[in-house]
Amino acid sequence: MFKKILIANRGEIACRIIRTARRMGIATVAVYSEADAEALHVREADEAVLIGPPPSAESYLRTDRIVDACKKTGAEAVHPGYGFLSERAEFARALAEAGIAFIGPPPEAIAAMGDKIESKRLAQAAGVCTVPGDLDVIPDVERAVPIARKISYPVMIKASAGGGGKGMRIAHNEAELREGFSGAQHEAKASFGDDRVFLEKYIEEPRHIEIQVLGDAHGNVVHLGERECSIQRRHQKVIEEAPSPFIDAETRAAMGAQAVALARAVGYRSAGTVEFIVDRERNFYFLEMNTRLQVEHPVTELVTGLDLVELMIRIAAGETLPFAQPDVRQNGWAIEARIYAEDPTRNFLPSIGRLVRYCPPEGEGIRVDAGVFEGAEISLYYDPMIAKLIAYGKDRDAAIERLGDALDGFYISGVRQNVAFLGAIAASERFRAGNLSTDFIGEMFPHGFTPPAEPTEADQVLVAAAVLAELRMRASETAIDRLDREAEMPPELVVLLDGRPCPISVRPEGAAYRITGGSESCIAATDWRPGLPLLRLRLDDKLLTVQIERLPGRAFRLVHHGIVRRAQVLPPRAAALAALMPEKAAADSSRFVQSPMPGLLTAVIVAEGQEVKAGEPLVVVEAMKMENVLRAERDGKVAKLRAKPGDSLAVDQVILEYE
Ligand code: ADP
Repeated sequence: MFKKILIANRGEIACRIIRTARRMGIATVAVYSEADAEALHVREADEAVLIGPPPSAESYLRTDRIVDACKKTGAEAVHPGYGFLSERAEFARALAEAGIAFIGPPPEAIAAMGDKIESKRLAQAAGVCTVPGDLDVIPDVERAVPIARKISYPVMIKASAGGGGKGMRIAHNEAELREGFSGAQHEAKASFGDDRVFLEKYIEEPRHIEIQVLGDAHGNVVHLGERECSIQRRHQKVIEEAPSPFIDAETRAAMGAQAVALARAVGYRSAGTVEFIVDRERNFYFLEMNTRLQVEHPVTELVTGLDLVELMIRIAAGETLPFAQPDVRQNGWAIEARIYAEDPTRNFLPSIGRLVRYCPPEGEGIRVDAGVFEGAEISLYYDPMIAKLIAYGKDRDAAIERLGDALDGFYISGVRQNVAFLGAIAASERFRAGNLSTDFIGEMFPHGFTPPAEPTEADQVLVAAAVLAELRMRASETAIDRLDREAEMPPELVVLLDGRPCPISVRPEGAAYRITGGSESCIAATDWRPGLPLLRLRLDDKLLTVQIERLPGRAFRLVHHGIVRRAQVLPPRAAALAALMPEKAAADSSRFVQSPMPGLLTAVIVAEGQEVKAGEPLVVVEAMKMENVLRAERDGKVAKLRAKPGDSLAVDQVILEYE
């Protein structure tokens, strides 16, 4: 076994690999860029080597510097994690030439699976079902038209070198094909320096289901069952689970057998993933093979009880797989949610800044894989993922319940994040019913992530939380005559939830309160103190968590199960007055397009007087070497441009004004 390994990555995956290596008694070397000098993976490794400036191309993607770091520290092997150099065959080759082991597959397997056209050819030859399509490179749109007609619409235009959802377009008819073709070509050229595109059938309302495979250097290959990753946004995974609620034993066995056949055909070694899309009739089609550890591998670890990183290390050291296919069992259910630094209420724009508060949840069946800590900086140089929250339960319902509770208890401030959005998905009936497809988010949130106007189940909890919070605030304001102050609260109250009045009555009952509203009544208690971000309450016999922040005007911002509301607790007369008062007109920001982050305005795509449709690109803001295209959030006419290319922008600076 290796004595020392180097982890050529950063963030949560570097920390996760270090954890297993430490348990195995292997020393670890971290590498880091200048932006990551204070990062968690640097602190957790036994040694760390600086490999360059913040941009990945000058640090985490520098094969030469990583090989040097191995030589300098005596690391015998490299784990690449995911992203960065993990799927570059040249990297694996360069390590081999330097006599360093690569904790991953052979370079030939990486190369064979790195190209979508080539890998589809190989898969077909290995007897794997592939999406109907045409495997010829299509040079121009005139050649594409007859091919699309032969495949029949809808079709998908795909970049052969593609990855990360880039260079993909759906076309439902010839007009859309003509429109999308050159866009896909350009995007492919810009992202991968390779403009080869091809066409395949677009499978409607598909589910994304993938098979984890594992092979050793002695010809043994097994699969560890499936993960379903259908909850996606712009073809990027958001929530993943194992097993899939859609797959029966027969389909699982058939998919597993094909995945193993493909792995064998390319001489696969290490952990890899064969991705399929599955249609409504459970027909499954090969998409691609990822020749590395996946972001979502923890759900497989939780249901199989295996440590994939440990197995990868053992396989790279030449050990034989310690089990065979019949020994692999799936037990219980695991669901992973990806916590991103982004603002779901503003079209998921990336957010940057310092994690002022970072309080991950803990508890039975909860695993948090993170590479951050309170005070850490989320920078725009790298992936905006803050952490992965993984919940395990004996069955799917139990796992969902734990996931929902854990999201309620995951408090992050300082950067915008998607915790409430994930909570809303976990709480939705459609998710609970397992009725998933890659269109889920688009269909469930057609107008983006906004609080529902109508009352929801979570509102009852929010009403109770608001009342308890108000009582505790009053109590803490005059500690001396605490009981008197509490008694001062009239028994009849109105809770305004986003301005909607919910009349209730409150009566002390022992150390708790009976809260009655309409025909509903419950007993509620909390030991929350003003200042704490989480209000844990007992509601009848349930223990629940509500996120709470103070707002100006003696109001609270409350979050529970994905419902975000402004709450105010008032005596009925004051509430009636507040309801009568004209709603203080909030500054109408929908008229303006503002910069979501400090940056440089590099391009203005629209002109004054131009009509735009929701979703159309308006301007491009560059922030820390990343281009962010700001799109119209609604239809409208551009009245005035308030900034020009080359201007540097402050956060929230107005760039253009609608009419
Ligand atoms: P990438 O390598 O860019 O991630 P993939 O081929 O893995 O691209 O596809 C990513 C996602 O795009 C899939 O999970 C699925 O949601 C969607 N997708 C890809 N191909 C098709 C297709 N033929 N029909 C429908 N959806 C597809």
